[in-house]
Amino acid sequence: MMQLIEGYEVVIGFETHAQLSTQSKIFSRAPTAFGAEPNTQACAVDLALPGTLPVMNKGAVERAIEFGLAVGSHIAERSVFARKNYFYPDLPKGYQISQFEIPVVQGGAVEFYLGDEKKSVRLVRAHLEEDAGKSLHEDFIGQTGIDLNRAGTPLLEIVTEPDMRSSAEAVAYAKELHKVVTWIGICDGNMQEGSFRCDANVSVRKPGAELGTRREIKNLNSFKNMQQAIDYEIRWQIEEIEDGRAIQQATVLFNPDTGETRAMRTKEDAADYRYFPDPDLPPLVIARDWVERVRSEMTELPRVMAQRFVTDYGLSDYDATALTQSREVAAYFEAAVQVCGQPKLVGNWIMGEISRRLNLAEADISACPITPAQLAQLVGRIQDGTISNNAARQVLDALWSEPQDTVDALIEAKGLKQMNDTGALEKIVDAVLAANPKNVAQYRAGNAKALNALVGQIMKGSQGKANPQQVNALLLQKLG
Ligand code: ADP
Ligand code: MG
Repeated sequence: MMQLIEGYEVVIGFETHAQLSTQSKIFSRAPTAFGAEPNTQACAVDLALPGTLPVMNKGAVERAIEFGLAVGSHIAERSVFARKNYFYPDLPKGYQISQFEIPVVQGGAVEFYLGDEKKSVRLVRAHLEEDAGKSLHEDFIGQTGIDLNRAGTPLLEIVTEPDMRSSAEAVAYAKELHKVVTWIGICDGNMQEGSFRCDANVSVRKPGAELGTRREIKNLNSFKNMQQAIDYEIRWQIEEIEDGRAIQQATVLFNPDTGETRAMRTKEDAADYRYFPDPDLPPLVIARDWVERVRSEMTELPRVMAQRFVTDYGLSDYDATALTQSREVAAYFEAAVQVCGQPKLVGNWIMGEISRRLNLAEADISACPITPAQLAQLVGRIQDGTISNNAARQVLDALWSEPQDTVDALIEAKGLKQMNDTGALEKIVDAVLAANPKNVAQYRAGNAKALNALVGQIMKGSQGKANPQQVNALLLQKLG
């Protein structure tokens, strides 16, 4: 379904820079670790001293291959490094080594759920390039320094088709992409440190019209900022157009303090960069057996794992996707299922009660106080009728704060056992039937709802410990 905002359709494409998790830089042996003293991790190559030459880092190429395989791309047998020429103080060579006409990763798609709707965003390409340094504005001395530690850090720039149609879809795409790169371990995904940087290209148009002029939002260093920035930008563009002004193609910065986007510079065209193949680097040739070796050594991908959860555990596609949101969640799920079977119940408890408590604590599953084995015990006790769902929630609460307790000890201590003794239950049922002749008569006269009142009385009489299925069965039997 097309979602319109004030009669306009939103169009979004993403460019994401994922910093590759190599020890050393893309064309030099200097280390890539974050947070070192300025200029302690830049070698002669990164400083662009005369006479130095770049040497390709094989680990960076391997990570690009892994990414391409993870999203179903073509891995180019031969790709070419190009010089992207521009002047900036943090770029000592006067050009950035990137890939232009022939990137290493071509095509592919990122698939994810938006609510319960399956989406697929096509990738144009992913190419290898080097990062620039940083300008550090030192307000206290009124000067700007240049830190070249980041210069030459390997990046994979991942470019989508303009396939997204709302800010929510854009954020869902970015989260899925983040999941893929961290899952396969090619990027640490740290957005605050700039390891995963998204630029959102946003335009609006009347349905059926040509694509509108886009503005590219930079500086989206959290998913929250991303949603806010895109929403602001959409409103701004619609207002401009409604006021009769044309959108100028531009690069804009999001300011998280004001929640606004502001034009930084008008956008350069590719021609402005005077791209040409870098004569210092031969074409990147990737033999097919290398690709196959990487493929055979790759970990099970989220999509494949989700499919396995559907076939092996009988989960819905939606549940399987939720349970493969991260490797940690998936491992937790499988560990619990291994103990108690019951994939459906285990999945529901992880996605429901456990997620809710983790969200409240702003923690992820690695910080969950309850072990998979404990969850398995809890689910086992629901399954064998020892406790009700409601009682299980109370056990979970108690375990959350006292994780050294056991499920069975807590059930005992709190007196949460369901009443499974039919003799005792029958006494309560008989007493309730005797005390409520009106409800009994109503039920016999065909008012099915009168049964609920009786069930309620019995549950109350058993202090909530009666097994509801048993209560129902007994009642029906006694009422004929
Ligand atoms: P450049 O390389 O000059 O930034 P591209 O054509 O490669 O431009 O597009 C960059 C990104 O912008 C891609 O993700 C693409 O999907 C997206 N994009 C292109 N045109 C539009 C548009 N009209 N509206 C929104 N996004 C767009
Ligand atoms: Mg671009």
